[in-house]
Amino acid sequence: MPAARTRMTRQRAEILAELRKAKNHPTAEEIHARVRRALPRISLGTVYRNLELLAQAGEIQRLDGGTRGRRYDGDMSPHLHVRCLRCGRIADVCGAALEPALDGLAAEGFAILRSRIELEGLCGECATAMPGSPARPLRTPDLEPDSGGPHE
Ligand SMILES: [Zn+2]
Ligand SMILES: [Zn+2]
Repeated sequence: MPAARTRMTRQRAEILAELRKAKNHPTAEEIHARVRRALPRISLGTVYRNLELLAQAGEIQRLDGGTRGRRYDGDMSPHLHVRCLRCGRIADVCGAALEPALDGLAAEGFAILRSRIELEGLCGECATAMPGSPARPLRTPDLEPDSGGPHE
């Protein structure tokens, strides 16, 4: 096996593996909690430093902005994000709507190295918690009498 182009420490490899597994665009703190299962002595500072190095190397995406802190994405394919303005959660926007736009840019001579397109809104949980929101209120056992049917 030839040596990697960049020196990949065990810690960095572990952080990268966890981030690629995660689908929820975690914060450094969340990644730290996951990586600690394999590397109990790793510090948050080490995780943060390695995340920055991975982002600079183009291995991961750094998702800045918002007041809820920086998040990271191990998925480097061009895709849209939607960020919840209330809790800071980030989700991927599914669909191929981005592809024609990227094709158009390529036609003008641009090579796309990373995408930073972000929609903003409220996630399902936050939308239901906001007064006057059009979403349905949260179901609670007290307010939902079992009128669905005779089963159970
Ligand atoms: Zn939310
Ligand atoms: Zn993403």
